[in-house]
Amino acid sequence: MNRPQQRDPDSTDSYTVAWICALEEEYFCACRMLDEEFPGPEISENNDDNTYAYGRIEKHYVVIGCLPAGRYGTNSAACVARDMVRTFPHLRFALMVGIGGGAPTARNDIRLGDVVVSQPRDGFGGVIQYDLGKFKDGRFHRTGQLNAPPEKLLGVITEMRRLFSDKRKPDRLAEHLQRLDDMEDYQRPAVDRLYATNYPHMDRPTCDGCDFISVVDRPERRNHRLLYVHYGTIASGNSVLKDAIVRDTYAEDPELNILCFEMEAAGLMNNVPCLVVRGICDYCDSHKNDDWHKYAALAAAAYARELLLVLRPQRVDTMLPWAERVTQELQQG
Ligand SMILES: [Zn+2]
Repeated sequence: MNRPQQRDPDSTDSYTVAWICALEEEYFCACRMLDEEFPGPEISENNDDNTYAYGRIEKHYVVIGCLPAGRYGTNSAACVARDMVRTFPHLRFALMVGIGGGAPTARNDIRLGDVVVSQPRDGFGGVIQYDLGKFKDGRFHRTGQLNAPPEKLLGVITEMRRLFSDKRKPDRLAEHLQRLDDMEDYQRPAVDRLYATNYPHMDRPTCDGCDFISVVDRPERRNHRLLYVHYGTIASGNSVLKDAIVRDTYAEDPELNILCFEMEAAGLMNNVPCLVVRGICDYCDSHKNDDWHKYAALAAAAYARELLLVLRPQRVDTMLPWAERVTQELQQG
């Protein structure tokens, strides 16, 4: 067996990759993606009260951090990131992995169970904080800029896209999904309905009372892969978006071209070099429900696992530990 380069799994110094999630189902999927789980180091509870799981994916030593139960939003995510910097001084970057709401448009055919990955474009760093920026005169005004992920990490996206497009390559994401084959509630739901923007949800627990005529007609997908992956800008805010009109305003703005909405990434971007991976669980409208949460969490985790398999550990080792970055920035004032 190809043993990884020996590192001490009981030492906080051994972990170079942070995998951050917010919900219990996201945490569950993350742990299932590990090749091997470690008991991990004893950490001082004085400085850090987050829940961690430890393990290895190929040669990467990964610490999975989950936000405390019931805590969410960009500020909670920022706290977890800062705790992790203190506790694990050799971390190079973080993956924020979990669910998000999709923003389908004529240009971006986003569906439930798809994966959206943050990628810088047109001067945006891959994530915008949409409740800080404001729409004025039909244009989005930015009030602050979020950092982009490091180039060395972005390079892996190019490689992921190549492996995905090449039909001769195996469907590795589909293989990773099988890691939860034994869990019935994590299997792909059958129903994916996108309602017209101006059609609100009827006041019932499910969409059974909603008018079928108002479902947007979308052609059946013909794809050589089980999962579909989109790359671009993710909008991050502190409240749950349940408004299809607001969604469309951001998604159809040609400058923003938002693919997905979520609630943590903006808290991480300026604290950690970070890539955001979101499985699409709803369409940010009044019809949203939890039916796709678990499968979408699994889809995002499968992508993150594949990214770590493609990313060479040597490349990670050449990145500057983010604790040192923080120290350097403080010294530079
Ligand atoms: Zn409905």
